[in-house]
Amino acid sequence: MKILIVEDERKTAAYLKRGLEENGFVVDVADTGEDGSHLAETRQYELIILDVLLPGRDGWSVVTGLRRRRIETPVLFLTARDAIRDRVKGLELGADDYLVKPFAFSELLARMRSILRRGPARQSTQLRLADLEVDLGRHRAQRAGRALELTPKEFQLLCLLLQRSGEVLSRTLIAEQVWDINFESDSNVVEVHVRRLRAKVDDPFEAKLIHTVRGVGYVLEKRP
Ligand code: CA
Repeated sequence: MKILIVEDERKTAAYLKRGLEENGFVVDVADTGEDGSHLAETRQYELIILDVLLPGRDGWSVVTGLRRRRIETPVLFLTARDAIRDRVKGLELGADDYLVKPFAFSELLARMRSILRRGPARQSTQLRLADLEVDLGRHRAQRAGRALELTPKEFQLLCLLLQRSGEVLSRTLIAEQVWDINFESDSNVVEVHVRRLRAKVDDPFEAKLIHTVRGVGYVLEKRP
């Protein structure tokens, strides 16, 4: 069981890491929101323990960013603030539970175990088309049983195409959804990423799933 702790107070982070390791967990620690986000996006964790008040990017922003990228790793917030509106805000943003500092370590373990028992799936996190499968919660994609090694952007692009499979998506829409940018007509960022995605998703297989609709955009669908 791999756990990510995002906590800027060194003593607290060290105490949590030691306690969790004694209980059989494998633990990574990040001390800023940026580093925490990066780890959460690039590695697999069963749970993220996330401090709210962090230098730079705070815990709210981290969890919002992860959920927008469809990374559904469960999040347990740690915070010194106990105001009710903070609790509500955390849960609305997609946190799974909330623990107010100071807390007993046994309480943390109990909350963690309860979240881990529930599993990562608040909703169905599996998307499927033909032999292509994507697990949003675990951030994994495979085709014909073979794991696809995708970058975070390729993964997001594939999720978008798959969630709206059968629908032609314009480059503008894709750029907005995946890159959060206003598309500039001379930019070929979408084409470049579609090409890389095809190399992994389609090239090794006979049946092609990603199709170009000339002058419009792209569609993911199974064609006879
Ligand atoms: Ca803090």
